[in-house]
Amino acid sequence: MVSKKVAQAINTQINREFYSAFLYLAMANDAMAKGFKGAANWFTVQFKEEQGHALKFAKYLEDQGAKVELAAIDRPRTEWSDLLEMFQEALGHERKVTAWICEINTLAIEERDYATQNMLKWFIDEQVEEEASATDAVWMLEMSAGSKGALFMADKQLGKRGRS
Ligand code: MG
Repeated sequence: MVSKKVAQAINTQINREFYSAFLYLAMANDAMAKGFKGAANWFTVQFKEEQGHALKFAKYLEDQGAKVELAAIDRPRTEWSDLLEMFQEALGHERKVTAWICEINTLAIEERDYATQNMLKWFIDEQVEEEASATDAVWMLEMSAGSKGALFMADKQLGKRGRS
């Protein structure tokens, strides 16, 4: 059993994970519209991962006998100036998600809710990966700046995600 406060915080996080999925799908759509099929693949993989995160939180609430309550998902932005701006926003967004997850963990510590702290460990580790992969993409795109050939290769590299 989790407290009402913890259940509410996790329900809010479920909405944020679905928003993340939506944001990355919007990025995939814009990348595709700009002809970057590799980046579109990268964001589509990310879109699916975020839905997985939402469902993982939902399963935890169910296992704890708490009700999952969905809320409206904000409309994401639909256009970015280029791939670099897109990935910079993705990195900034992941840093925000990390901070939100840490806030829930702080609440769980205050409430001596050990089960929720254990469940959040997976997400805290996952956020390290999320920030690292977005950072890698930002670096690659920064290094490609000004070179169409390098940008083409970067897009090819992004297209490999989820295919190895
Ligand atoms: Mg997530």
